[in-house]
Amino acid sequence: MLYDLYEKEKKRVKESEETITLKLTSNLLKAKCPICQAIAASNPSEITICPNCLTLYHVSCIKDVIKSVPNDKCWVCNQIELKTLPLV
Ligand SMILES: [Zn+2]
Ligand SMILES: [Zn+2]
Repeated sequence: MLYDLYEKEKKRVKESEETITLKLTSNLLKAKCPICQAIAASNPSEITICPNCLTLYHVSCIKDVIKSVPNDKCWVCNQIELKTLPLV
């Protein structure tokens, strides 16, 4: 009986975790790169993220920007220098 309850609770927790992950993922899928205004996830191999405001950017967009403005900061929070984002 106790075991049943435990199993039910485990299942419930797992389901709510999955819902949260799903919500996060769908927000990420809709997020636009502020530089080119295209959906960032359309090119998942090219995504980087501002550690301060969690905005998604395309790596190639950032590289273009810092070519002309080397010290430009995150276009959304203006706190983090774009060149310090992980550019893989
Ligand atoms: Zn972009
Ligand atoms: Zn930012």
